[in-house]
Amino acid sequence: MLRRILLGMSRSHQIKKAVSSLPVSSGIVARFVAGETAPEAVLATEKLVSNGLNVTLDHLGEDVTDLAAATATADAYLELLKQLSDAGLTKNAEVSVKPSAVGQALPGDGEKIALEHARTICLAARNAGTTVTLDMEDHTTTDSTLGILRELRQDFPETGAVLQAYLRRTESDCVDLAYAGSRVRLCKGAYKEPESVAFQDKRAVDKAYVRAMKVLMNGAGYPMIASHDPRLIAIAASLADRAGRRPGSYEYQMLFGIRPEEQLRLASHGHTVRVYIPYGEDWYGYLVRRLAERPANLQFFARSLISK
Ligand code: FAD
Repeated sequence: MLRRILLGMSRSHQIKKAVSSLPVSSGIVARFVAGETAPEAVLATEKLVSNGLNVTLDHLGEDVTDLAAATATADAYLELLKQLSDAGLTKNAEVSVKPSAVGQALPGDGEKIALEHARTICLAARNAGTTVTLDMEDHTTTDSTLGILRELRQDFPETGAVLQAYLRRTESDCVDLAYAGSRVRLCKGAYKEPESVAFQDKRAVDKAYVRAMKVLMNGAGYPMIASHDPRLIAIAASLADRAGRRPGSYEYQMLFGIRPEEQLRLASHGHTVRVYIPYGEDWYGYLVRRLAERPANLQFFARSLISK
């Protein structure tokens, strides 16, 4: 119930205006967001990479409603890739792009505009020696995002996909995407979705996650297990083992600021671990989704608001 209220808040413009006046350096924001600028994001990347971790960076922002903002987001990724390359970090750092941040939701040609922006980012990433993963947003965008992915993979087969275990369609999408060379991030899913398309109960989502993992681990692609859930991480390890996969033929992914000791522990056991680093000024929607996952953080959040 609380999760649904919080996820509803993530789309409220009034609440966003009030909360966005918090400085990014305030406790709760800084815990989950690496900063507002590319240099801050590069600094956070350097620290994680020096500890044996890999990174994927997200320039925060979503649902842009004008072309200028979509183009500005694409340009921000080009600048970020340049800075990562200059810092010698592109062997360990890639970028994650939300299609809605580069134009998908624009009326008319939105999907085409998002594809062209994503193509430009993929080319810059390849020239810098790294890759792009297309984040997945709410279910109304799934077909469109998978369509953009198919187009991109014709020229950039290294582009990563994201599938959300809570969606009823995902097991079948995993079957379609479990082919050689296909990088697929599997997450539980972070949006408020109707029962008609998504499992609502936590146990049903976890079971769906395991079914999807089985398909990916037994397939020929490269599974990216994005979860902080200790049970699912343990099941991933045993499924990988049973499928004859060695560390390096799949990876674990976690969010910046969540279970950092576990990230290091997995890396110290020889696993590839990638940390998702969000940065930028538009952190509101991202932060509220993190609070919805762990209402225990709400108290901390309320304290940040009172002391601002
Ligand atoms: P949860 O059910 O939230 O947590 C399970 C367990 O993990 C908890 O019971 C606890 O034991 C542990 N845990 C969780 N949080 C903490 C914490 N703060 N401290 C200590 N223990 C904790 N979602 C999308 O919809 N689209 C995307 O493109 C997308 N990309 C993602 C990329 C990455 C790398 C990751 C990690 C997540 C991404 N997500 C995305 C978010 C995802 O869908 C989930 O909302 C989020 O990961 C929480 O799910 P969970 O699997 O960690 O399980």
